[in-house]
Amino acid sequence: MLNWSDDPITPTPAPSRPVTPPIFAAATVTALVPPTGEVPGLGGINPVGGRVSVSEKAMINCRADVNQLLPLKYHWAWEKYLAACNNHWMPNEVSMQADIALWKSRDGLTEEERRTIQRNLGFFATSESLVANNIVLAIYRHLTNPECRQYLLRQAFEEAVHTHTFQYVVESLGLDEGELFNMYREVPSITAKAAWALSYTQSLADPLFATGTPETDQAFLRDLVAFYVVFEGLWFYTGFAQILSLGRRNKMVGIAEQYQYILRDESIHLNFGIDVINQIKLENPHLWSREFQDEVRGMLREACDLEVAYGRDTMPRGFLGLNAGQCERYLHFITNRRCAQLGLTAVFPDTENPFPWMSEVMDLKKEKNFFETRVIEYQNGGALAWE
Ligand code: MN
Ligand code: FE
Repeated sequence: MLNWSDDPITPTPAPSRPVTPPIFAAATVTALVPPTGEVPGLGGINPVGGRVSVSEKAMINCRADVNQLLPLKYHWAWEKYLAACNNHWMPNEVSMQADIALWKSRDGLTEEERRTIQRNLGFFATSESLVANNIVLAIYRHLTNPECRQYLLRQAFEEAVHTHTFQYVVESLGLDEGELFNMYREVPSITAKAAWALSYTQSLADPLFATGTPETDQAFLRDLVAFYVVFEGLWFYTGFAQILSLGRRNKMVGIAEQYQYILRDESIHLNFGIDVINQIKLENPHLWSREFQDEVRGMLREACDLEVAYGRDTMPRGFLGLNAGQCERYLHFITNRRCAQLGLTAVFPDTENPFPWMSEVMDLKKEKNFFETRVIEYQNGGALAWE
């Protein structure tokens, strides 16, 4: 069974490249290498080229045809694709009745709770699109492996489902759609995060950008870190803690249930990203230099500072069970975990998890009586049996 904690599956060991490729003659291999700027997968067809051998598959700068899923090389990517399909859900299958009643009630929520909910929704509402656009417009093109691309196609759909969630919440609660979907432009603490991540995807947006040099390969790695490790792996986790903390107190239980499904999806997104980065490291050890490792740790620290500022802005006073100081400690704990997953030295001194309940919330099986929802009949093909 697939591991549903946030520990990544061990990536495939680095390939030992045969001196003479056994199947491809040098001439055919060259014929399949896309010229600089050509999108891998859209090149011409070589009818006399040899068949793809697993040893020719590679994460980036691949020399083999990317239109052939089989033979599989990266089984971890295929397993994540299968697990993601088994987790299929749609936001409008979750009842919003209790949330609507609470939201419309005069004193069911404190002002601080309302502010946190709105800014949390405002952050996520456009973030799912930023992540989706980065997958489709920046990552897909340069990740030159069909099993990884198969997962990316599934992930892109999930990001659409997540964006749909916020449309559904806005519609259900009667929220101001202009206010929510403009927060990433109008609320400085949200703008700062979006702008930070956008700078990494924009650097890949030049149509002439191509991986294949240490500089451009590292630019691609930076984008993977910014979106998979920071956006989905750090920033989303404090957002989940905010809503799930309310859910534990029986507040906004519909949104909390949707966030549990999103969290389940995101934990696979994160682990896929970690596996992709670690596999690229294995195949291209020269990219993971001491300087580059320090740079990545610097990125994580910066991203953490942005999130701490967002936390203070989102809940200046805090509410029962949650405040900005705890979120900061949680973020330090999560950041150090991400460092360990990437094989990096921790960024912060010893940290502890101030929200041990988050790991329980992540286990959906334990949740069936928790929010009194219908997780059990909702499962798709045994998908919730994560152990
Ligand atoms: Mn998402
Ligand atoms: Fe995601």
